Amino acid sequence: MKKVAIFGSTGSIGDSTLNVIRENPDLFQAVTLVAGKNIQKLMEQIEEFKPQNVYIISEENANKLKEKYPDLNIYCGEDGMEEISKLTDFDISVSALVGIAGLKPTYNMIKNGKTVALANKEVLVAGGKLIMETAKKYNATLLTVDSEHSAIMQCLQGEQQNKIDKILLTASGGPFFDKEITDDITVEQALNHPTWKMGPKVTIDSSTMMNKGFEVIEAKWLFNVEPDQIQVVVHRKSIVHSMVQFVDGTIMANLGPKSMQVPIAYALNYPKRLKNNIEKIDLFEISQLVFEKPNLEKFQCLKLAFEAIEKGHSYQVVLNAANEVLVDAFLNKKITYTQIPKGIQKMLDSHKPMELKTVEEILELDKKVKDETRKMIED
Ligand code: NDP
Repeated sequence: MKKVAIFGSTGSIGDSTLNVIRENPDLFQAVTLVAGKNIQKLMEQIEEFKPQNVYIISEENANKLKEKYPDLNIYCGEDGMEEISKLTDFDISVSALVGIAGLKPTYNMIKNGKTVALANKEVLVAGGKLIMETAKKYNATLLTVDSEHSAIMQCLQGEQQNKIDKILLTASGGPFFDKEITDDITVEQALNHPTWKMGPKVTIDSSTMMNKGFEVIEAKWLFNVEPDQIQVVVHRKSIVHSMVQFVDGTIMANLGPKSMQVPIAYALNYPKRLKNNIEKIDLFEISQLVFEKPNLEKFQCLKLAFEAIEKGHSYQVVLNAANEVLVDAFLNKKITYTQIPKGIQKMLDSHKPMELKTVEEILELDKKVKDETRKMIED
């Protein structure tokens, strides 16, 4: 029986992870559940999965939980997050907080030599070098549950890393691939993703294709390739989850159902596959697989991500921080859709490169950029 810690249990990845656990009660047990604000959903999860440790951000909510569940270890606040991410009584953790909030907890788990299944791509965008070096130093195992990266990981099974020619990272293109991008785009339209059902921030990132820019950075770190070895390929139907082209011209592709349960189950039970009840794909019904080039002039966020990749690490921290604030502002209807790339561009343009060696230094720059971005929105 594997003990599983879920950071972000009340989110979309958290839901899918708990579905895998629910369907495989003899294999997995949820021992730690970390949530943000959704106390109602967390309580339902506590009743069903009977974890030993839980986290919720506010002290007020933590006190409510303490009253109802006196035998549970309950954590809250910044110190509580530090403590719960340093617990070692689990076999695998699913790191699925959203944004930079996931960096320190993931770092703590890696530093304890644990196995982490990473969903939170912002962790590698902001701290890829540090996370990979720390994982190596402390013998931690880093798996991925991002569907594209899980696909790549599967294509690379038994292959030599130095025989990779190119990673072909597929993108759905989001809801605006065939539409004009204007300031009239509403939050509801941007949240209407054509193929995946995900949390709000990643859904907006998918619509701007910033998500794909983040995934390029994620792939660079996970698979130790140069950014120019990663090609973004738009594949609207999300049937092919990504591909690897090798030096002999062979392309290995991973095709499968559009369900996050599949890559999550693969990571939880790695490297053995698990049977599930998800509908299998029917190639006759699909009939064709179409691949297209992304338009960087239209998807400015993807272009900015490539710019940040070229300019270096601290630009990627800026990219991530500014994006987090601007997407949140768009979701709260404080700015228009095209102000997202415009705001990021401003933050990147005013940044002076710096070396960031520690989590603290990364978080300090993240905070500074977020404060400046918020001020820019207010002005
Ligand atoms: P959601 O917004 O659905 O969920 C985020 C989770 O994190 C929730 O449980 C939320 O709690 C919790 N949370 C957020 N901030 C904090 C905090 N400061 N402290 C504690 N808990 C917090 O996001 P997703 O599940 O969609 O995505 C999670 C990550 O996985 C993102 O980085 C995303 O890019 C990545 N990802 C997601 C995919 C998907 O299919 N959803 C696919 C691939 C990657 P609460 O709701 O209680 O406030």
